Amino acid sequence: MEIKANNPALKSWIDVKPDSDFSIQNIPFGIYTDKQTIHNACIAIGDYVMDLHMVHHLRYFKGLSLPENIFSYHSLNDFIALGKDKTCAVRDRISDLLNIENKELQSNEVHRKQIFKQQKDLQMLLPIQIGDYTDFYSSIDHARNVGMMFRDPENALLPNWKHLPVGYHGRASSIRVSGHSFHRPKGQTKPSDAPPVFGPCKLLDFELETAFVIGKQTQMGESISTEKADDYIFGMVLFNDWSARDIQTWEYVPLGPFLAKNFASTMSPWIVTLDALEPFRVEGYKQDPKVLPYLEYTGNKNIDINLEVSIQPENGEATIVSESNYKYMYWTAEQQLAHHTVNGCNVNVGDMMASGTISGPEKQQFGSMLELTWRGTNPIKLKDGSERKFINDNDTVIIKGHCQKGSVRVGFGECKAKALPAF
Ligand code: CA
Repeated sequence: MEIKANNPALKSWIDVKPDSDFSIQNIPFGIYTDKQTIHNACIAIGDYVMDLHMVHHLRYFKGLSLPENIFSYHSLNDFIALGKDKTCAVRDRISDLLNIENKELQSNEVHRKQIFKQQKDLQMLLPIQIGDYTDFYSSIDHARNVGMMFRDPENALLPNWKHLPVGYHGRASSIRVSGHSFHRPKGQTKPSDAPPVFGPCKLLDFELETAFVIGKQTQMGESISTEKADDYIFGMVLFNDWSARDIQTWEYVPLGPFLAKNFASTMSPWIVTLDALEPFRVEGYKQDPKVLPYLEYTGNKNIDINLEVSIQPENGEATIVSESNYKYMYWTAEQQLAHHTVNGCNVNVGDMMASGTISGPEKQQFGSMLELTWRGTNPIKLKDGSERKFINDNDTVIIKGHCQKGSVRVGFGECKAKALPAF
C-alpha cells in the first residue's frame, strides 16, 4: 500500500537542506521542552520542531477526533496507543500542512510563530515511558566476532544462534535520551591468576544498535506472528547499549549480562515511524538452516539504514570509528518480536527492543570497540593523535543514522552521551 506522506516528490515550504535528517518524508515524533514550562509532543522538519500541541490547539487536526491534551503529556505513549490508524492520519495531516502546495499554515504568520521553534533553542526529552527493555544479539558478524574472541574460532556461533534470535531482558530505568552523560560504572572484575577486585570499569565500550518501540499491546497468552509484527511496531530509534567488558567477562557465566549493561543506555530523541522507513526495506540474509515455521517471513524485512559511530575526546574533534548498516542484521525485527511473544509473553506500548550490536562483515563496520580494536590488541588512532582501545573518561560517543534513496533522506538525528569519570 502506498503511504501518502512518503511520496518522494513532496516538497516543504520549510527550508530543508539536502543533508538534513528531517525531510518532509520523515516526520519523526519526539517530546521537547523549552527548558521552562512547556513539554509537548513535536515533529522535526529541517532545523525546526513543530509543536503538535499548538497545531492541535489551533484546530489544524480538526476532523481527526484526537483527545484534547494528547500532545501535552511527558511522553508519546498515549498518542502511540491511539493506534496506527490515528497516528498515520496525524503524520499524513502534518505532511499536508508542510507541503509547499498547501497554504493553510504557510500563509498564517501568527500561527507559524506559535507552532515552529528552532531545534537549537530546545532540549529533547526521553520521548516514551519505557516499561520493559529487551536486547537481542542478532548481527551474525558481531556474534561471530565475539565468539571467535571469547570461545572457539572454529565454532564461533553457539548451536542455537541460527535457530532463534538470542536475547535477554535488560534494564529500562537507566535508559536516557541523547545528551545525558553518565559515570563510568564500578564493579567486580577478575584479573587472571588473582582473586576478584572491586573498582572502576577499565574496559568501557559502546554498542552500536537500533531499537524499535512497541505501538500496540498484547494480552498474556497472545503471540505476534512475523506477518502481523509491523502492526505492533510504532517506530525506531538509535541506541547505544553501553557495556563494561571487564565486568561482563567475569559476571556473565552462566546467566548472561547484568551489571555490565544496566548502568546506562542512550537512545536518540526522535522516533522515526516504521511507515517512514518502508521505502528503504531491503532483502535480508538467506537463513540457512531453515528456521522453524513461526520464524518464517515473506517480503523484504531488512532496512537499509546507514549507521556511524564517532568518538569525541574532551575539547577535541570527533573521529568516525565505525560505519555499519542495519541491513546486516541476520534476524529481522519482525522475527525478534515473533520469537519474543511466541511463549505468550505480553508486550506494552512503549516497550523497547534493541537490535543487538550491529556489525557488518568488514573491519571498519564493526559496532563496538571490543571488535574494532580486537579486544584492545589493535588500538584506533583519533584525529588528535591519541589512541583508544576502549572509551576514556570524558569521551563523547556519537551515533548517527540515516536512510537515503535518490534525494530523499530519512534520518534519526544523534544518539550521543559522554562518559564521566567513576563516582
Ligand atoms: Ca547489546
